[in-house]
Amino acid sequence: MYEVRVDPLDLERLGRILPPARAQALRAHAVEAAERLRGRVVWNISSTAHGGGVAELLQVLIAYGRGAGVDTRWLVLDADREFFTVTKRLHNFLHGSPGDGLELDDRARAHYEEVLARNLPDLRRRIRPGDLVLLHDPQAAGLQEELALRGATVAWRCHIGSDTASERTDLGWGFLRPYVEGAEAFVFSRRAYAPAWVAQDRLWVVAPSLDPFSAKNAEMSEEDVRATLEVSGLVGTSTARSGPGFSRRSAGTGRVRARESLVLDDHPIPASARVVLQVSRWDLLKDMEGVLHGFVDNLRLLPHDAHLLLAGPDVSGVTDDPEGAAVLAACREARARLSASTRARVHLTALPMDDVDENAHLVNALQRHASVVVQKSLVEGFGLTVTEPMWKSRPVVASAVGGIRDQVEHGVSGLLLDDPHDLDAMAAAVDLLLRDRDTADRLGHGAHLRVLDRFLGDRHLIQYAEVFASMLDRAPV
Ligand code: UDP
Repeated sequence: MYEVRVDPLDLERLGRILPPARAQALRAHAVEAAERLRGRVVWNISSTAHGGGVAELLQVLIAYGRGAGVDTRWLVLDADREFFTVTKRLHNFLHGSPGDGLELDDRARAHYEEVLARNLPDLRRRIRPGDLVLLHDPQAAGLQEELALRGATVAWRCHIGSDTASERTDLGWGFLRPYVEGAEAFVFSRRAYAPAWVAQDRLWVVAPSLDPFSAKNAEMSEEDVRATLEVSGLVGTSTARSGPGFSRRSAGTGRVRARESLVLDDHPIPASARVVLQVSRWDLLKDMEGVLHGFVDNLRLLPHDAHLLLAGPDVSGVTDDPEGAAVLAACREARARLSASTRARVHLTALPMDDVDENAHLVNALQRHASVVVQKSLVEGFGLTVTEPMWKSRPVVASAVGGIRDQVEHGVSGLLLDDPHDLDAMAAAVDLLLRDRDTADRLGHGAHLRVLDRFLGDRHLIQYAEVFASMLDRAPV
């Protein structure tokens, strides 16, 4: 187990871009929360510090929490590959998907418990009675009882879920229920995700949020976008040896490293191309391969300068996702089977994860460069990869599933695909946005306003303050 160092961020920075009443409410809640939580630590326990939405969220919320004067910290579990194979299966089951086809049997349960038990001595040393603990996702759920016995007040924050129950989601919940049932609070991204056995008076619905100032979302000039993508070998050509600077999470700056090509099996994308982008982990439920087929099967309909880019993390950098290598390999093979002329319009990149700030900056530049951003997930807990381009005023085409439905209002802040399996509908929506500049601009503008209105950190932090207050009210003195 290790603690992730997170530097505090000043809430005033966020306050400056909010309407005055919202900034004032944020300040008032921050003062109250700091007072209420004085002398306690708020611990977050998750399974990875890099890659994926949970890591992205924690980084920002913990920084603002610390900035507000609340002693907020982040621990990452020690676990092995077999543990992550089990928890990925559980993740897939909770999404109603068969995953690797194996069951959550006694052996899976035994290994899950064994790995968490190995983490306990270290946790008991760090966590004191009276502290608050947020356990994130199924990976950490099994710690609830032991930490409550230690005298901590424990909440479970589940970032995933499915809109509809099925035999498989029941199996997933059956596995988890005995571990978390006693939690003081349950926090879900959507109400529909909470299983029926969660007590209503302990159930909270809190959608994720985005930080406009992080390396992932900070403003970038067109010049910086171009230089970043050129020097990293993603778009166009460059002879520069190092690229533009970016701010790091910890104080300081970095520079984009020069590379010949970050595009897999290929040269960089031509600078004149209009890029249709999907950014995701290499997860079957994000359906990167489906996006590829939808694009190439409709290629003759699409404008001749439309190019597809599927961007995900370098798979060795996301330790809690054992599916990644196979999904990326399948996409590479699907691309290799295309005719040479079609292949020239389809690109894959696995962005290096050895420098998370550079990775975030590259994603930022790609999202800003894209003409259309797609998120054709088959299921989606929330989908920060939709929020991020929306904030950047990009027109999005996204499946009408899970938390994406809370973000995109069809025809106002993006286009929704009713059936995430309908590849022709995806291509038609992309085609429309590439051909109709006014509609694309209008939807992009609507998207930005939607995020400003609902998905920034003030709403998120205030909701967390409310959850903590209610937990402390309930906790035994
Ligand atoms: N992401 C990234 N680099 C990549 C691919 C993804 O930083 O190469 C980020 C992406 O920008 C987003 C997060 O990972 O912030 C994914 O979060 P999301 O909620 O969309 O899905 P999850 O991965 O949690 O299922």
